[in-house]
Amino acid sequence: MKLPLLDLKAQYETIREEIQEAVLRVCSSQRFILGPEVEELEKEVAAHTRARFAIGVSSGTDALLASLMALEIGPGDEVITSAYSFFATAGVIARLGARPVFVDIEPHTFNMDAAAVAERMGPRTRAIMPVHLFGRCMDLDPLLELAETAGVAVVDDAAQSFGATDARGRVAGTVGAAGCFSFYPSKNLGAFGDGGMVITDDEELAGRIRMLRVHGEAPKYHHRLVGGNFRLDSLQAAVLRVKLKHVGKWSEARRENARRYRELLAEAGSAERIVLPQDCPGHVYNQFVIRSPERDRLRSFLAEHGVATEIYYPLPLHLQECFQTLNYRRGDFPRSEEASQNSLALPIYPELTVAQQQYVCAKIQRFCQG
Ligand SMILES: *Cc1c(COP(=O)(O)O)cnc(C)c1O
Repeated sequence: MKLPLLDLKAQYETIREEIQEAVLRVCSSQRFILGPEVEELEKEVAAHTRARFAIGVSSGTDALLASLMALEIGPGDEVITSAYSFFATAGVIARLGARPVFVDIEPHTFNMDAAAVAERMGPRTRAIMPVHLFGRCMDLDPLLELAETAGVAVVDDAAQSFGATDARGRVAGTVGAAGCFSFYPSKNLGAFGDGGMVITDDEELAGRIRMLRVHGEAPKYHHRLVGGNFRLDSLQAAVLRVKLKHVGKWSEARRENARRYRELLAEAGSAERIVLPQDCPGHVYNQFVIRSPERDRLRSFLAEHGVATEIYYPLPLHLQECFQTLNYRRGDFPRSEEASQNSLALPIYPELTVAQQQYVCAKIQRFCQG
């Protein structure tokens, strides 16, 4: 059996006609940049996430970048974020000349440790950027309190958590000042290319991000701010509007697959040799990340049997070469470093069949017994 980590072709088969119709609609209109498709998508995402405003942008990275730009974060400022995330989270902070201040993750959720954030708050702190990693919402209440006391903003990196909810039922991205989504094809709501979105309830912030998206212009050819080209394509928006109708059902299927992994791995008696990700209500399982002290051997074993897996992430952010000047050292964030050594993402995509999951679990069982 050959099993990819993600099977986008299987998903496409289920929506082929709807997508083709949407793409042809854009072809007929010959409106490619922003335009009515993007406006409709923004309204639909705002309704879906229960946010007041949604601004379509060119990628998840640009959603984060534009949000920080709108908050006027720059040289001399510090932004506190997780040491264990995709590079973009920290990259956008550094690109604005600000300093990423990293904190370690909690032992069981892969999300940032709020107590560690409290320790890093200082006079230069301008924002806190929590990451809802792998589809699991971080509990933001302790951060909101810290942020409010210090008068700084919380910008959510919800790139991997479209549609996730926290313990109080609040939608990922709506709890802080702004929430950022990525529509990279491997995310729960994925485009046919790059795309992203910022959601916010703050009208002024929404206006600034909208302006920054088109080089800060208002009106045309008159520039109030130095922005960028952060525009979303009409073609991507048309595809995303189709997929938005299905994303709830797909995330439910991911949850069901997570439940089945727990059941099958417990039956196989393998649950003792590997650590399964902690479940919680509202988790949308962009990734199902297990942990094993023999991660690399397990990964090779699964690959030999046709099962693709991935390591998210093999090197924590504080140890990246480009951040050497920040003077972090190995040992600074032991939980992030440990996660980078023992975490392994298994296929969890919605179209995964029961037989395929049984196969993966049988191979894991064999590895654990070997
Ligand atoms: C994917 C991702 C991003 C960046 O999104 P792009 O659309 O690839 O620019 C940022 N942060 C996290 C946590 C991500 O997973």
